[in-house]
Amino acid sequence: MEITAFEEFKLNRQLLSAVAEAGYEQPTPIQQKAIPLVMAGHDVLGIAQTGTGKTAAYVLPLLMKIKYAQGNTARALILAPTRELVMQIDAAITELGKYTDIRHVALYGGLGPKTQIETLQKGIDIIVATPGRFNDLYLKGEIPVKQLNTMVLDEADKMMDMGFMPQIRRILEVIPVKRQNLLFSATFPEKVERLSHEFLEFPTRIEVTPQASTADMVNQIVYEVPNLKTKINLLVHLLSDTERFLRVIIFVRSKETAENVFKYLERKIIEEGKIRIIHANKGQNTRINSMEAFREGAVRVLVATDVAARGIDVEEVSHVINFDVPIIYEDYVHRIGRTGRANRTGEAITFVTIAEEYHLKKIEKIIRMTVPRQPIPDEVIQTETPFDESQAMLREVDSQKKKEDPTFKGAFHEKKNPLAAAAKARAGSSAARTGSPAKRGTSGSPRKSAPSKAKTSNARRKR
Ligand code: AMP
Repeated sequence: MEITAFEEFKLNRQLLSAVAEAGYEQPTPIQQKAIPLVMAGHDVLGIAQTGTGKTAAYVLPLLMKIKYAQGNTARALILAPTRELVMQIDAAITELGKYTDIRHVALYGGLGPKTQIETLQKGIDIIVATPGRFNDLYLKGEIPVKQLNTMVLDEADKMMDMGFMPQIRRILEVIPVKRQNLLFSATFPEKVERLSHEFLEFPTRIEVTPQASTADMVNQIVYEVPNLKTKINLLVHLLSDTERFLRVIIFVRSKETAENVFKYLERKIIEEGKIRIIHANKGQNTRINSMEAFREGAVRVLVATDVAARGIDVEEVSHVINFDVPIIYEDYVHRIGRTGRANRTGEAITFVTIAEEYHLKKIEKIIRMTVPRQPIPDEVIQTETPFDESQAMLREVDSQKKKEDPTFKGAFHEKKNPLAAAAKARAGSSAARTGSPAKRGTSGSPRKSAPSKAKTSNARRKR
């Protein structure tokens, strides 16, 4: 039976609250599969790429197993190939474990071990580490391993590629034999298969690799769009071509954006009754009715969130428009899989702002192709980007760069631009008041724009 709500997992209240606050509305496919298995104590082999929600798929059941701070020495060890990934996993534990007292530490090289050692000495429950730094500190006698009862290898394929196998073997030799093992890998080449035999005991294999072939069959294009208003203008322009845009699904990341887009189109251009909206807050019957009307052709345009769209079984749509870039990267493949197919006339169009290009790049890696960019048609009015929206986007670009390179100090820096600093203060307070573009950025709507053209292209180039 498919689990469609986090509440159905046997997670405690602390974890469910953190999940809700993280903005996760529904478990992703890898989470649906992995969480019950890991909680039941099985060894799991998960084939899943970044962007599928794989981190939470093992962090949540792990936090449930560890439950609360206990003793002084770690009970779980998560190994990952790079310090960026170690930091990301550690951040996920901070976020999802925020209502527990579980203590965790990120161990990686590139800086002195003093602070890491101090954190270990204060008592620790979960260690996230690169194999190299773990071994260094273990050899220094700083990591007691006797209590370890869960071990996770994340991005195992990359660890193999980076030559970590001998280090991992050394770790396996010293930690207790009786333990639960989880192995996650984006791909499953022979060397990972060999490692999985060595490492896992009667594992259950789960897989959510997106079918890249779907992507091959759809004609995909990308428009680089400066801001939200221009996205709307472009959308209106495209939809005004009633001969080509016969049956269209517009995908958006959040319910709020869905409502806004829907209301705008309904008011401005689409004939009454020809447009519908589906998202998680719409009742089941309303959703089914909308779907029926869309399938029969009575409705031309459907605005949908990814969550609501999972059950959609209409495939022969003429166009899929990604009003924003999905951050669950698998959703991109699901979204565009709604078009084309049999007669190959389908098109998948994606609107991307500078703040979303980071996610688009990750998607392009998964589908193993670069989606061709097209210039915005001349008829479309490209509005100036409002200051708040611009600042929010630039901030987001900075945080993405930091994610990739923790030493990155940020190009978007008050000191370099006194004007921006003053305005940022203003933008910050207005965002706090209204919860608007700056804040909404993460939940779905586009965000950046640039105070000047030069700045936008600059940010782009740097990336
Ligand atoms: P990962 O594949 O673990 O790198 O996760 C990709 C992104 O998806 C991260 O930013 C997560 O915070 C986010 N995420 C994970 N699970 C969910 C979920 N169930 N719903 C929405 N976002 C999620």
